Amino acid sequence: MLAAMPPTPPPSPEPGEAPTRDRGDACPGALRLHAAADGLLARLRLPAGRLTSRQVMVLADAAESLGDGSLSVTSRGNAELRGLRDGCGAGLAALLADAGLLPSPTHERVRNIVASPAAGLDGLGHADVQLWARALDAALCAEPRAAALSGRFLFALDDGRGDVAGLGGDVTLIAAPDGAAFLTAGTETFRLPGAGAGGAGHAAAAGSAAGTAGTAVRAALACALAFLDAAEAAGTGAWRPRELPGAHLPDWARALARAAITAEPVPSFAPPPAALPPAPGPLGDHALHVLAPLGRLTAGQLRALGAGADEVRLTPWRGVVVAGPAPDLLPALAAHGLVTGPADPRTGVTACTGTPGCAKSLADVRADAARAPGGPLPVHYSGCARRCGHPHGTRIEVTALGPDTYLLDGVPVPRTALAEAVAAARTTPMES
Ligand code: SF4
Repeated sequence: MLAAMPPTPPPSPEPGEAPTRDRGDACPGALRLHAAADGLLARLRLPAGRLTSRQVMVLADAAESLGDGSLSVTSRGNAELRGLRDGCGAGLAALLADAGLLPSPTHERVRNIVASPAAGLDGLGHADVQLWARALDAALCAEPRAAALSGRFLFALDDGRGDVAGLGGDVTLIAAPDGAAFLTAGTETFRLPGAGAGGAGHAAAAGSAAGTAGTAVRAALACALAFLDAAEAAGTGAWRPRELPGAHLPDWARALARAAITAEPVPSFAPPPAALPPAPGPLGDHALHVLAPLGRLTAGQLRALGAGADEVRLTPWRGVVVAGPAPDLLPALAAHGLVTGPADPRTGVTACTGTPGCAKSLADVRADAARAPGGPLPVHYSGCARRCGHPHGTRIEVTALGPDTYLLDGVPVPRTALAEAVAAARTTPMES
């Protein structure tokens, strides 16, 4: 039986085994363009994946006029413009700033916030963490020291349904059913009590929610700054808390106390069970969810998504939540080539950049992934062993060994037999 790859555990350096880095992270940004094999690449941080309808249209125009005509959705719900022409950086920056996508040039690469994409739309979850994400983004951009965070430091805000709590956040906030929140930093978890519960009725509930959000945001920022202090003291150039030597781990409780936040340690915290991404289709009465085929949205698809939407939210599973439209928009989006229903065989199929965008790719993985047969289990195609952009959680791994051979869950498979092998793997129950 073919066994799926287990979820990739985060690196957990033991004391004395922490990496020492002699440079900052090389993550691209909106202002720091990366020279890829298919041209320049810009990565746009979109806290909680959120874009207004106008911003969607601006990105569609930018993709067409400056890039290769499409937008890539990353595994953090950010966006990438690829194939950008040399010399377009200043024009792109002006365009993004005008659209409100560059609120702080000094902080543009540290706005790494994932949040439950359906929060506030489908009646599930315990709090609208999309609002928390906006408040956290504003707090981050207003704190000059936060600009020193690496482009890899991640905040994960889960509304309690368990969809983003397992995405490897460096600071994770999870809404609790009683109006409180849990914060996990490093390996420690704290309960942050709900706030502002005085009075009665709707106004009091709204005040309590706002109070919890404010406390959660202040706590997350305090922990991020505590990490920066610890990283500076360690002198190892750590990008994330898990890279710190054991002797230099932050005193998270002290950092929270210093920020005047009441936080109760939770020694044996059980996070919510990991939730699967929502199936493509309607999402509550006033939203829908579609998937971008292999994580790419053409300019035409972007315009179809943005037309008439209140907002769209790019998701960590390379989908798009569209808030505002009637569900009967789905046929039109299907006609644009988007994945609009769970029966579409493209559901659950992801791929790295591959050729021609990545010079390391050993095969045309995106062409082969586009021919992937359907099945219940997710499958990720990679052009080399780095397996960039793989999803979290249980999945089938297909990795190129050369132009005509793949490794499927550890077994070499000729390209001519790949589709059949993937079909079998996607329908074979997991080994536990
Ligand atoms: S997995 Fe390899 S081929 Fe694919 S994008 Fe990453 S480095 Fe490139």
